[in-house]
Amino acid sequence: MKKSAPRILVARIWHESNGFNPQPTSAADFQISEGDELLTAAATSGSTLAGIIQQLSKEQVDILPSLSVVAPPSGLVDHAFFLKVKERLISDAIALKPDAIALELHGAMGTTLVEDAEGDLLAGLRAAVGEKVPIGVGLDLHAHVTDAMLAAVDICIACKENPHSDVIECGEKVAAYLLAMLNGSLRPVTAMAKIPMILPGAAETATGPLREIHDQARVATKECPAIWDVSLFNVFRYADDEDIGQAAVVLTNDAGSKGELVAETLARAFWEKRARFADDLLSIGEALDTVAAATSHRPFVLADMGDRVLAGAPGDSTAILEAALRRRDGLRGAIPITDPHAVDIAFEAGVGNIVSCAVGGRITPGFNSLPITGKVIHLSSGDFTLAGPFQGGEPSSMGRTALVEIDNRLLIVLTAKAAFSHDPAVFASQGIELASRDFFVVKSGYHFKLNFGAAATPLLVRTPGVGYYTKGSLFYRKARFWPEHDTVAPAVNVRIFDRAAS
Ligand SMILES: [Zn+2]
Repeated sequence: MKKSAPRILVARIWHESNGFNPQPTSAADFQISEGDELLTAAATSGSTLAGIIQQLSKEQVDILPSLSVVAPPSGLVDHAFFLKVKERLISDAIALKPDAIALELHGAMGTTLVEDAEGDLLAGLRAAVGEKVPIGVGLDLHAHVTDAMLAAVDICIACKENPHSDVIECGEKVAAYLLAMLNGSLRPVTAMAKIPMILPGAAETATGPLREIHDQARVATKECPAIWDVSLFNVFRYADDEDIGQAAVVLTNDAGSKGELVAETLARAFWEKRARFADDLLSIGEALDTVAAATSHRPFVLADMGDRVLAGAPGDSTAILEAALRRRDGLRGAIPITDPHAVDIAFEAGVGNIVSCAVGGRITPGFNSLPITGKVIHLSSGDFTLAGPFQGGEPSSMGRTALVEIDNRLLIVLTAKAAFSHDPAVFASQGIELASRDFFVVKSGYHFKLNFGAAATPLLVRTPGVGYYTKGSLFYRKARFWPEHDTVAPAVNVRIFDRAAS
């Protein structure tokens, strides 16, 4: 009798939740797709889910789409909405009876009630489908990986690069390893070693200490065929969760003790290199001076590190705008600012009219609004599609958006929602020609470099807000980690997860 094709359920639930952003993230903030629409949209996007679908499509597999739920990083997710999503995924898994489940999750989602949302989701899913159905998860490397997550799944791996240039490869691996489990060639045993520290800087993987630790991981993988994957999780810094730390997660084919050794060595490497995890950022004045003095390399793209929407900050900082207004050098800039109230005022005024109002500073604790007078030159729904490569092809929304020009030189992109700004499509959708600007601002620290490529020269700027960690700047009640707390050598906590043995 011909063996029937394996049936694999796919889904994505993606949110990075900043516990210091006071505004919860609600259903309206998410892009939701399901069924065939999910398959068509996700198949070609720059996402882990795309990698999963592309890999499964190469094999004789029935792909069963459940749902895709994605929002920009922001405040904690409304718990009632999370429960709805969780129930939907679980009811699909029960109804469809898949042979395996492949998921893209972020891994640093928290709700207004539950700290470890992915752990809760995966434990619920495992309980619903039973012990035998393989579950594979592709995470962001900024995930906060927990025991609850690893106890519930068989495969748990991250992309390796920051900026995340390899999310598709991560998804391909998740799918391939699930198929290997189904054909009996992989018996996954995972080791995780965690050390209670965060990276205060040097968070990119192509250079510096992270490059060295990844090189170590690559050597270990090459030397031992039983090691199928080493994922190094640089935990999201803006969640006040227990047990946060740098996590080395080693997936082996039935070689737990080897995995344990490698995981522990890598976790220790983070500690040994800790003094080098520091950034060299420019002050706002230094960044604008650099722009003003430059005779080439325009436009410059200024990363507003403190107010990074890509780290869950509200995007409502006026710090760079205020500094640019104070200067007399006539720099031409474009600056996104989240402010639904100011957007309403601009829409009431209409295109071509002058508005005087206060903008920004309404959400982030400690920020203030800034009074401006400018001309409304464009109004839109704020819907656009990311150009990528990171998240390319994904629909996104800034909410209603108004473009206001001050002094014929500074364009303020006022958005009703905290918006992704790490992509040229944000500015193109508002009719802004970046080449005509001296500088523009993005609320991103890393991924914008991928998406703007050679179109602009990046400058990383030290700005206030809840999207950049400096010691003592954020009030952690539960999380305990270096450098915020103890500075003595912390213990490395190593655990092994062997679901087949349990
Ligand atoms: Zn990330």
